[in-house]
Amino acid sequence: MRVVFLGPPGAGKGTQARGLAAELGVPQIATGDILREAVAKQTRLGLEAKRYMDRGALVPDEVVIGLVAEQLDHGTAQNGFLLDGFPRNVAQAEALEALLDDHGVALDRVIFFEVSEAELVRRLTGRRVCRRCGATSHLVSSPPTVAGTCDRCGGELYQREDDGEAAVRHRLRVYERETAPLLDYYRGRGLLTPVKGEGPMEAVAESIWVTLEGKEAR
Ligand code: AMP
Repeated sequence: MRVVFLGPPGAGKGTQARGLAAELGVPQIATGDILREAVAKQTRLGLEAKRYMDRGALVPDEVVIGLVAEQLDHGTAQNGFLLDGFPRNVAQAEALEALLDDHGVALDRVIFFEVSEAELVRRLTGRRVCRRCGATSHLVSSPPTVAGTCDRCGGELYQREDDGEAAVRHRLRVYERETAPLLDYYRGRGLLTPVKGEGPMEAVAESIWVTLEGKEAR
């Protein structure tokens, strides 16, 4: 299964990708997570990427394409992968196609998460992330039992720099300008399936399964 999760920031791609990748037994390749890890470790890549990420801009294509190429070369991606947050523009989609061509494989499906802008802003600005395990909670819809503390592991919760209101608005504009054209790109290749990204997490997960079931028995 080679699947891309496409959609605006805050659409729930990461949450769904974590569950589905585990069930399918394929790696979740999340460029945002890989970049945040590099930022936390203060590597050269991380220091460069941080300048873009903090203001909600896209990190240069050659950087993220290089990261994804490395991940696809890993033995763990041989039997499939779930790409989350990549590609984010047409140049990245073309690079992905070329990388997969080199491996003699192709994408099976692109799932597009549909969520209204008002809901995205609400989700992103209220989102809190655990520094230790990466789990997310929401100040209003899934508040932690103890304020500022992760329910899962007891780690400290923080707000991502790019989840502040101004950066969120900027990320949504970048999405419309850079990423939304990928809908036509993948529709034209017969790969795109829209999924309603609002409502209970379990219902969203079920619609994704229904979409993929035609490709692989559950
Ligand atoms: P995400 O966790 O997917 O929302 O990504 C957080 C930030 O990482 C984005 O706002 C970008 O600055 C950067 N980023 C993640 N994926 C990409 C990508 N495919 N291309 C460029 N920048 C990316």
